[in-house]
Amino acid sequence: MSITFIKADKLKQKPDKVFGFGKTFTDYMYVREFGPDGKWGEGTIRPFDAVELLPCSSVLHYGQAAFEGLKAYRNEKGEVRLFRARDNFMRMRGSCERLCIPPVDVDETYAALVELVKLERDWIPTERGTSLYIRPVVFADERSLGVHAAKRYKLIIMLSPSGAYYANGFAPVALKTEREYVRAVKGGTGAYKVVGNYAASILAGELAKAQGYDQVLWLDGVHRRYVEEVGAMNIFFMLDGKLITPALNGSILPGITRDSVIKLARESMGLSVEERPIDIAEVLDGARSGALTEVFGTGTAAVISPVDRIGDNGVDYIIGEKGKVGKVSAELFDALTALQTGRALDVFGWTQVICDR
Ligand SMILES: *Cc1c(COP(=O)(O)O)cnc(C)c1O
Repeated sequence: MSITFIKADKLKQKPDKVFGFGKTFTDYMYVREFGPDGKWGEGTIRPFDAVELLPCSSVLHYGQAAFEGLKAYRNEKGEVRLFRARDNFMRMRGSCERLCIPPVDVDETYAALVELVKLERDWIPTERGTSLYIRPVVFADERSLGVHAAKRYKLIIMLSPSGAYYANGFAPVALKTEREYVRAVKGGTGAYKVVGNYAASILAGELAKAQGYDQVLWLDGVHRRYVEEVGAMNIFFMLDGKLITPALNGSILPGITRDSVIKLARESMGLSVEERPIDIAEVLDGARSGALTEVFGTGTAAVISPVDRIGDNGVDYIIGEKGKVGKVSAELFDALTALQTGRALDVFGWTQVICDR
C-alpha cells in the first residue's frame, strides 16, 4: 500500500493550550476513495480542507455512512500511543458490512493512521487529560438519487486536538430515562457506529437538556424496560457490590471502553462483573434502597462519566452522594487513563507506541 503525500502551502498556527472537543483540526487528513472500478484506490495524505460533494451525493439523502472515534495520547517524554486502534477499524468493518459499504482493510487503514498521526505528532497536547481525537468516517458518494448500494465511497480520517474532558474536575452528570423515544431495536443499526443512529437520538437529547438533565438513559425498543445505553456511551451500575452492564443484545453499541472496563474490573480490580439484561425497575429500586452505589457511562471521549442523578417520570433518584464521584468510577478512570498515556504498564497489550520523541 502506498500513500501519496500532498504538501500544504502553509501550516496552521498550533494553539498554545487546547480547549474543548472537535473544533480544531490539524494540517492534514487522510483520504481514500472507492471508485466505479470496484476497488479502494491508493490513499492520500493531504491538507485538511473541504471535500467536494454534488447536491445529489447519496450520503446527503440516505445516510449510507459510518464513523469511528478513538484517541492518540502523547506524554511529556514525547511518546505517542494509540489505544486499541485496530479494534476501532474492525468495528468499522462491521459497520460497513451492515450498510453495504465495501469494507476498508483493517491493516491498511491502521498503517495509514499511524503515518498520519506521526506526521501530526506536534499537534498532540501533552497536559494531563488531553489527547488527539481521531475521527475516521466512510460515506457513500453516489451521484444519483436511486436508493441502492452506491458505487463510489470516500474514507476520511481527520485529527482534532482535544482538551481535558474534565477541565474543571471530574463532574457527575444527570440522566433522564427516555420513555417516549427509542434509539435502536435488534435487527436495526444500533449495534453499529452508523451515522443515522445519531440523527434519530438528537430530539430526545435536546428534550432532556431542556428539563435539566445532561444525557438520555435509553431503554430497549421492544419491552421499554431494559436499560441499553446512555447518550452515546455504554452504561455500568455498581449494584449490591457487583459491577453490572447490559449484555450486548443486538441493539447496543459494543464500546471499546466498555470492553476495557469489563476486563480491567475483572482482572486488575478483582470485581465481579455481570453482563445481562437490566430492568430499569431494578435500577430505581437499587437507588431507593441504597444497593445502587455508583452509575457511570463509558466511551472514548469521557472514558468514564459518573452519574449522580437519574430522573424518571418526573421523580429524581440520587445515586451515591450528589456531586461526588464513586470509588469504583474514580479507580477505573485512573487505571484506564494511566494505561492509555503510558503512566502504567499495559499488561493487556492495548496500546501501541508509534513514536517515542
Ligand atoms: C461510540 C459509542 C459508544 C462508545 O464506544 P467506545 O468504543 O467506547 O468509544 C457507545 N455507544 C454509542 C451509541 C456510541 O456511538
